[in-house]
Amino acid sequence: MHVQSISANVLRVPLRKPFRHASAVRHYSDNVVVRVELADGTLGWGEGVPRPYVTGESPDGALAQFGLAPLAAALSTEADDWQAVIAMCQRIELPVDGDDPRDCRSNSLRCAIELALVDAYGKHFGEPASAMLSQYEPAKPLLEPRSQVAFSTTIDAEYGRKPGRSAFKMRVYGFRQCKVKVGSDNQSDARRLGLIRRWIGPKVDLRVDANEAWLPEQLLEYASQLTPYRISCIEQPLAHEQLAALGELRSSLEVPVMLDESLTSMVDAREAVRLSACDLFNIRLSKCGGLLRSVDLAAYAAEQQLGYQLGCHPGETGILSAAGRHFATTIGGARYLEGSYDRHVLAEQLTTDDMTFGYGGRAPTLTRPGLGTSLDLSRCEKHLQHDWVTRPIS
Ligand SMILES: [Mg+2]
Repeated sequence: MHVQSISANVLRVPLRKPFRHASAVRHYSDNVVVRVELADGTLGWGEGVPRPYVTGESPDGALAQFGLAPLAAALSTEADDWQAVIAMCQRIELPVDGDDPRDCRSNSLRCAIELALVDAYGKHFGEPASAMLSQYEPAKPLLEPRSQVAFSTTIDAEYGRKPGRSAFKMRVYGFRQCKVKVGSDNQSDARRLGLIRRWIGPKVDLRVDANEAWLPEQLLEYASQLTPYRISCIEQPLAHEQLAALGELRSSLEVPVMLDESLTSMVDAREAVRLSACDLFNIRLSKCGGLLRSVDLAAYAAEQQLGYQLGCHPGETGILSAAGRHFATTIGGARYLEGSYDRHVLAEQLTTDDMTFGYGGRAPTLTRPGLGTSLDLSRCEKHLQHDWVTRPIS
């Protein structure tokens, strides 16, 4: 079976609550969406979340890359099993305007294209996307299929005014793990975390994400203010540019460090190991270039005796939630899982299926062919930002 055509667009996904970062407030997430059509008419859907401040990608930039990429060279072969689909995904080369020393500036588009191929071929083979992961060589030592997983919750800085109330809600909802965003008001973070610990109870695993907000000279002091509340991890405390400083300071910290903004590719992963800059990787499918490259990172983490989290981007639709679910229920060893937030984050559901987790963050394995959901075009139509850019393949 061969690919007939592949198309891309930018989908403006409306959010339930505004998304705040640095000095901007956004009410939507612009995601790149890809549609693959096989010769028998089977359609597959993929999605990526380009974020300029993470991988230097933009939604319109991803669409321009898509228009220029030599896709026919990679996709115009027959594929009749998962090995052929894996090889096809690995042949894809995407053009980058300028330097790309971290090998990350086409990751969200790569993710969207790969997911659309996996979805289309999965539907054609009658097998779920997780079947491809099980056959991917680097995944084999990590395979740990489960019928259900439990996702973590997040309390972001916006809830700052009522942290106790949010914490109590998370406790009642039965979450086992909770991430707290810190760094937007360093003076009040310790007090806020104290309130959250009191209301969420002693059993929940609490960790913090500083999103690069601290300076090297503040790291030990701020971390020591938070450790009395028994945090299990600090995510990306310093800016990526301070990675070497983080490597030097880490041995003085009592809490494990996770890298997120500093971890987008194998280039980053090797640099983090070289500098001894972390204990864990935050692997997010879009940020890291799709399922296969994310497996490579998880395998490298295991090899280096590091932990990892499967993360997600706020604003992902059910397409990326489904892809994350296939990863989470197939690949073992994740310390924390994030994803399947759909109804809690999106103002409108844009996929044919609701992927939102249930009580306690619990969510089942997806068994339907492909990713197990599709974009609902009738609901997406008014949110598409351009005409579809279509590339005929054969
Ligand atoms: Mg983060």
